Amino acid sequence: MKKYDERETLFSRIDLKKGTKEFKEFYEKNPELLETDDPLRGVSFRPKIKKDDNFKKLFFPLIENNKLFIKSLHEIVDNFQVSKKIDIEKSYTKNIKEITKYYGATDVGITKLDDLSFYSHHGGLSESIEYNNYNEEIKSVYNTAIVFLIEMDREMINRAPHFEELLATEEAYLKIAQVGARLAIYLKSLGHDAFMNSSEKYLAPLVPLAYDAGLGEIGISNHLVTLKYGDNVRIGAVFTNLELEEDHPIDFGLKEFCKHCALCLINCPTFAISHIPRIVNGRQFYKFRDDKCYEMWTKSGTDCGVCIQSCPFTQGVDFEKVSKMKDDPLMMDEILKEHLETHGRRKYTKEELSILKLNGEE
Ligand code: SF4
Ligand code: SF4
Repeated sequence: MKKYDERETLFSRIDLKKGTKEFKEFYEKNPELLETDDPLRGVSFRPKIKKDDNFKKLFFPLIENNKLFIKSLHEIVDNFQVSKKIDIEKSYTKNIKEITKYYGATDVGITKLDDLSFYSHHGGLSESIEYNNYNEEIKSVYNTAIVFLIEMDREMINRAPHFEELLATEEAYLKIAQVGARLAIYLKSLGHDAFMNSSEKYLAPLVPLAYDAGLGEIGISNHLVTLKYGDNVRIGAVFTNLELEEDHPIDFGLKEFCKHCALCLINCPTFAISHIPRIVNGRQFYKFRDDKCYEMWTKSGTDCGVCIQSCPFTQGVDFEKVSKMKDDPLMMDEILKEHLETHGRRKYTKEELSILKLNGEE
């Protein structure tokens, strides 16, 4: 068992500048990463999008200022004073979940946090909201995570790896911050301190927490795969010390199903995904080439998203059949066959969404 370290994530690594103390320290400890990281260092991917300048001028502003909103939401939460404490019974858990949904979450689960849940150090990823925290140690001062999901727009994801994919992911990140900020402020109003994680500033990796909170299983894409929305979700979390009733991991048979399916692996344009298990702090993940994945981002100019689009659970499955598929390989094959007959190997929509069409194009 080892604490996660945000400095080891790809985005943190490739942000390191040659000649700096941080660069030297990191690659002295991890020399094997230098060869894969160097070609990606300083390569910005958004301008690579295959669209003309007019498109970029008109449509990039749709999303490029989202970070300003997220930054101001962090400031509102950080500056909001914790009120006088109101005692909250554990049975209020159900209300907390309903409130999180009322604020806009698609689904919610609760899990306990321990020292291993947190990153050991920040990796400087908050620089985009002008908050450089590289090397800052993270203290595990919260013991409960309210983990929630935001479903992304499937019509947009089905156009991945094109610009619509970015519209879907950026919208979800903003919604996560909105829901998280409102929930954190609500808890602070009840006298319980709370921290809002967002795409720009977070204290822990969220996939393990969403798994622990019973929101889904981990697929070979290393994403959380939910029954109802597949991996077409983004994860948010608010940390607190409120004592709430915990949820537990679920098992609907995804590990076995992934062995039959492998559609994300087959469709991944850069072979970043593998089926080789990798146990991290007791949870099963899969070996993954983050550098290969990012290579695709630098080609498409988006976050790609083809793996999300490829997952049968993203496109919708027969829940009755899924409830019977555990330990039943024939049922798994039947679900897959139905998926392939309906959607093919990959559900991809070529036609641009109307929001991006110009001059009344049909
Ligand atoms: S986002 Fe694209 S490149 Fe990355 S793992 Fe998914 S399919 Fe592969
Ligand atoms: S696409 Fe198939 S293999 Fe990949 S995560 Fe989804 S179910 Fe598993």
